[in-house]
Amino acid sequence: GETIGILGGGQLGRMLAMAAAQLGYRCHVYAPEADSIAAEVCGGFTCAGWDDAAALAAFAADCAVITYEFENVPVAPLAALGEALLLPNRRALEVAQDRLAEKTFVHGLGGRPAPFAAVDDAAGLAAAIATLGTPGILKTRRDGYDGKGQWRIMTPAAADGLDLPDQPLIYEGFVTFRAEFSVILCRAADGDIRFWDSPENAHAGGILARSTVPAAPLVQAEVAAARALAARVAAALDYVGVLTLEFFATADGPVFNEMAPRVHNSGHWTIEGAITSQFENHIRAICGLPLGDTRLAAAGVVMDNLIGDAAHDWPALLADPANHLHLYGKAAARPGRKMGHVTRLMLD
Ligand code: ATP
Ligand code: MG
Ligand code: MG
Repeated sequence: GETIGILGGGQLGRMLAMAAAQLGYRCHVYAPEADSIAAEVCGGFTCAGWDDAAALAAFAADCAVITYEFENVPVAPLAALGEALLLPNRRALEVAQDRLAEKTFVHGLGGRPAPFAAVDDAAGLAAAIATLGTPGILKTRRDGYDGKGQWRIMTPAAADGLDLPDQPLIYEGFVTFRAEFSVILCRAADGDIRFWDSPENAHAGGILARSTVPAAPLVQAEVAAARALAARVAAALDYVGVLTLEFFATADGPVFNEMAPRVHNSGHWTIEGAITSQFENHIRAICGLPLGDTRLAAAGVVMDNLIGDAAHDWPALLADPANHLHLYGKAAARPGRKMGHVTRLMLD
């Protein structure tokens, strides 16, 4: 088969490579780290850094198509790749890796983000708080994940002592939500869009802890509007592959939180819980193949992340024969680090 290139070497790349292998493809993982957990299950390709133009050119020469498994890949070096080679395209990556660009873009398509303001310094933060009030959350515009690079600001006075990082920030009003959920879709090059059932997502300490399908009725009531927005986002970006939008379910309908131009942790349940997983459909989409059925394969599904030392006693997790255990092969279990996940299907 042909070779698929994956930018990024984390667990999402690893699971993409496993789905690709099932369809007869070979994968090469491109990452600055020498032995990534993704490269362990396919071919690795080490670069000196994301701006290593010679390494990127050599990597690209090997690949029929290139995709990415995390959104913080610098966009500029990717301009050297042919337009058709990178899927999803560079524009999708560019929009989704900057919270300000992302919220502005989605707002322009009729979406409703939390009220937000760009912040570049202490005076800007004071101005944002004067306009939007507290409580609110200050976030780095780029590079944040799992709640990293965020500060909750409960009172205007609390902002005074903050030691602001020297990078562009965004301040958002705190959303009073009833639940969180995500819309996970796959769009083929011909515009065909499939949605998976929307999981309800519970976070702990800013990190996804559990995704549950089906979501509570109050979430389900907001899925149609959220899907319509997600489909507009995908079409406007001429998007190919899996796209995820995170939402807050509120008394006034869905509030857009953020998007990820990739397969998503809240879609891991689809490996066993859907007819076709997010990983397989992403590979199908970028390879120009027809998309598989996204419907639920059980009455319900629960996916729990194994964070920090939660994966430590994994034989005990396997003692329950209903558990589908996924371990990512990470060497060191640090607090807050995603080490694996467990999926359980409800059969009736
Ligand atoms: P991810 O790992 O999903 O990429 P992230 O680091 O990009 O996470 P966010 O999704 O912005 O972070 O925020 C993490 C969590 O913090 C959200 O899922 C939500 O629980 C909470 N949160 C973030 N922004 C807000 C907000 N404006 N109002 C209320 N809660 C929020
Ligand atoms: Mg994020
Ligand atoms: Mg998030």
